[in-house]
Amino acid sequence: MNLNDPIETVSSVGPIYKKRLSKLDIFSLKDLFYHFPFRYEDYSNISNIKDLKVGRKTTIRSIVFDISNYLSHKSIKITNAKLYDQTGIINAIWFNQPYLKNQLKKGEEYFFSGEVKLFKNGLNLITPTFETIYSKEQVNTARILPIYPETNGITSKWLRKQIKKLMPFCINNLPETLDDKIIRKQKLLRIQDAIEKIHFPNDNFDVEKAKKRLSFDELFQIQINSIIKRKNWENKTTSTKLKISNNEIQKFTKSLPFDLTKSQKECVSQIICDLSKKTPMNRILQGDVGSGKTIVAASAAFTVFKNNLKTLIMTPTEILAMQHYNTLTNILKPFGVRIGLVTKNKKSQNWDIAVGTHALLNIEKKSLENIGLIIIDEEHRFGVEQRSKLAIKAKHKDFCPHFLTITATPIPRTVALTLYGNLDISTINELPRGRKITKTYLVPQTKRQDAYGFIKKHVNLGEQVFIICPFVEQSETLNSVKAATVEFEKLKNQIFSKYSIGLLHGRLKSSQKERVMDDFHHKRIKILVATPVVEVGIDIPNATIMLIEGAERFGLAQLHQLRGRIGRSDKEAFCFLFCDSQSEMALKRLEALKNERDGVKLAEIDLKLRGPGEIFGTRQHGFATLKIADFFDLKLIEKTKIEAERLLKIDPMLTKHKNLKEAIDALYNQKSSLQ
Ligand code: ADP
Ligand code: MG
Repeated sequence: MNLNDPIETVSSVGPIYKKRLSKLDIFSLKDLFYHFPFRYEDYSNISNIKDLKVGRKTTIRSIVFDISNYLSHKSIKITNAKLYDQTGIINAIWFNQPYLKNQLKKGEEYFFSGEVKLFKNGLNLITPTFETIYSKEQVNTARILPIYPETNGITSKWLRKQIKKLMPFCINNLPETLDDKIIRKQKLLRIQDAIEKIHFPNDNFDVEKAKKRLSFDELFQIQINSIIKRKNWENKTTSTKLKISNNEIQKFTKSLPFDLTKSQKECVSQIICDLSKKTPMNRILQGDVGSGKTIVAASAAFTVFKNNLKTLIMTPTEILAMQHYNTLTNILKPFGVRIGLVTKNKKSQNWDIAVGTHALLNIEKKSLENIGLIIIDEEHRFGVEQRSKLAIKAKHKDFCPHFLTITATPIPRTVALTLYGNLDISTINELPRGRKITKTYLVPQTKRQDAYGFIKKHVNLGEQVFIICPFVEQSETLNSVKAATVEFEKLKNQIFSKYSIGLLHGRLKSSQKERVMDDFHHKRIKILVATPVVEVGIDIPNATIMLIEGAERFGLAQLHQLRGRIGRSDKEAFCFLFCDSQSEMALKRLEALKNERDGVKLAEIDLKLRGPGEIFGTRQHGFATLKIADFFDLKLIEKTKIEAERLLKIDPMLTKHKNLKEAIDALYNQKSSLQ
């Protein structure tokens, strides 16, 4: 059988199963073999009935001596079988599966695997899986059982059966992607062996070995892709090497109302060093929320301006574009820099630096001629497509502009070494001096009035407040807007009727957004009710309190971003979290937020809880999230990097590694990634 054959070539897979399997991303036979268990249950030890204990998951080998169906008093169909072995007898029961009565034969011997529970009549084996002892090998009992990600109508039991059935026809066709040499040196299993053992291990040792091989493959392929991407980038050139004197850059930084922090200065000099090269910069600037990334980006844009080139700054929201437009105008206009704003309604002409939303993508090609630098703020909000579209548009006569992406979500080292392996990274690792720690509280509903009272007290002292409405859907849809509008009306009429209160969301007209932002900035609005649009980048230093509704709906990184909107001055700041859910996972996240203020640590916790796709927007980036390897396995990540570098030195185009090349192409789903 060809592994690339669609899954419906399997006789037991009709249209319904095909659809269900697609939910698990299983489309081909190969996908089925690469659908890995996420844990195992050990049913390999066969117990004697007399030794069974309550709560234990176990296997027994026993003979059926009676079986019957009856209705419970709650009208549940119960199947009850009486089983015995040489040491004793026990009941086994199943619910709503009366057909089992015909499947289990009296007098026959089976393996039963299930959990032992204590009922009124004594010990019972609850809904055990069973298999006759006469089959050559057991699939669902009496062994270590793989537990797979499941979906409605696709159980682990079903998956085991299919995989077992297909294994003999397919296993030898699985392409080996690694050279013998690496396999020997890294003491790895061959791929066929690894796939067989990951699904049907004989012991935990098998599981470990299979995981090791498959994790190696996964990371190795990501590494190779990163290195090739980096090489491709290094073949590009810029139009000129940029120059700027220390003197000029100092004149600019001296004009600011504050001194740059040490790490801001370091980032500026790393960037300027990149700009002076013929290879375009491809750098990511990371720094916790509030660490002052905008100024660093502005210094880069200033350098580009001094070399008679232009800069594009793309932001994910119009509100943030407007804010950057104002900030940059304030600090750069005195140097003769013309700042432009480009949104769907406004298209400035004649600028040196254009700040805008993705409307920048529609700018006419003529005004993109002398682009020296493209800055993408809060880059995880954009897809690769938008980014590369802008890059292609701004390319001029084969020359490529410099690229700076900015992110406030710290990238843990292991993620940097894999998913971001093709980028250089600058880090601002300190906050400006004098920042107070934001106190975070999980507030019970019974204390809601107290929280409002607290807000009033602080507004009377001249401070300002954000009230964030729950995150209803991924993008800002009418639902989120409606939720915010309802909350706004309620607060305005009932709670804060004596206070100036405003509403901000992404669906307001540009002019309204501008007015609300401006009113809040100039303290004409004291309390701002907003959808989570303010999560990205908004900078109002006088705001000291943030109240977040439905906090459990946000991811940790996002909550940290939101909270970062306050505590931007030397005043004490407070964050109140309201939560509608009692889910353990949600409370765990909120507890973490309460106790931890370090963005790096929070990103790591989030990575453990939710995986990288959610946090770094890696899904949009076309990165497959890790299927089996562990983002915390630094050793393996480093090892695969070394091996990837070594291999590409010998075979840079992977011409001698056809299987590997095919696997990587499939992973990134773009045939051209290696060209
Ligand atoms: P972020 O890194 O979250 O994008 P911003 O660039 O918006 O942060 O900066 C946050 C606030 O800190 C702004 O009001 C900015 O003017 C101020 N700021 C930036 N750098 C410094 C500094 N070195 N000292 C004091 N304040 C600073
Ligand atoms: Mg910012």
